[in-house]
Amino acid sequence: MLAASSRPLTGETIMDKVGFRCIECNEGATELHRDYSNGILKITICESCQKPVDKYIEYDPVIILIDAILCKTQAFRHILFNTSLDIHWKLCVFSLLCEAYLRWSLLHGSEQSGDPADIIRYTKEWEFYGMFGLAALELSAFCGSVLCFLWVAVGRLRGGATPELGLLVRALLLSCYGKVLVIPAVIWEHDYSPLCLGLIKLFVLTSNSQAIRVMLNCSRRLSLLAVCLGLLSETCVAQACTKLPWSIQDMLTD
Ligand SMILES: [Zn+2]
Repeated sequence: MLAASSRPLTGETIMDKVGFRCIECNEGATELHRDYSNGILKITICESCQKPVDKYIEYDPVIILIDAILCKTQAFRHILFNTSLDIHWKLCVFSLLCEAYLRWSLLHGSEQSGDPADIIRYTKEWEFYGMFGLAALELSAFCGSVLCFLWVAVGRLRGGATPELGLLVRALLLSCYGKVLVIPAVIWEHDYSPLCLGLIKLFVLTSNSQAIRVMLNCSRRLSLLAVCLGLLSETCVAQACTKLPWSIQDMLTD
């Protein structure tokens, strides 16, 4: 596995920082590779498990993405610990826009036309931004309850050592990347769209659970419990927004 890299390593993986993790055994590491003066790069071998600390630094991003889609623990560790990928806020806004578009298109299901000019015109309507606000509220409820639960549960399990919230928020938002799939599901609308949307939701929740498990190195049960609690609060907020007399959705659509 020790080899001179056949292509330049990306800037985000050759940064000088401590606090890397071995993607195989989760042991800490100070470097991912060593750069020798004669231009040879050697991947660092983990002292604990004797495997390369992070084999993904040589892999193509597409391979890493496929492994992340398959929810492989190693791929999640690579992305969350060994890269400085900081697109989580942009990704969050984009996935909220996708979610808003999905809700808005369901609202206008019957009157929707395939003309792109109509789509552009409709996005100017307040309803769209209202849907964006509701989606943001639900995401906040999801993340808030997951973080509160983990803060308390992990603090108790580890004798007061609480998780770093900033890193957890980044992991949660990055693992919501599957939400962008609602766009093709809405555009190529067919009879199986509700099934597709259900599967996308399941996929996003699975990714969230895996991200929590990797970040905290905790049991699958704890991460699933956190995600279920988040889903419950998200559903409660969604129901409150649509069912209560002062419904926000009604105010927006009237
Ligand atoms: Zn290791």
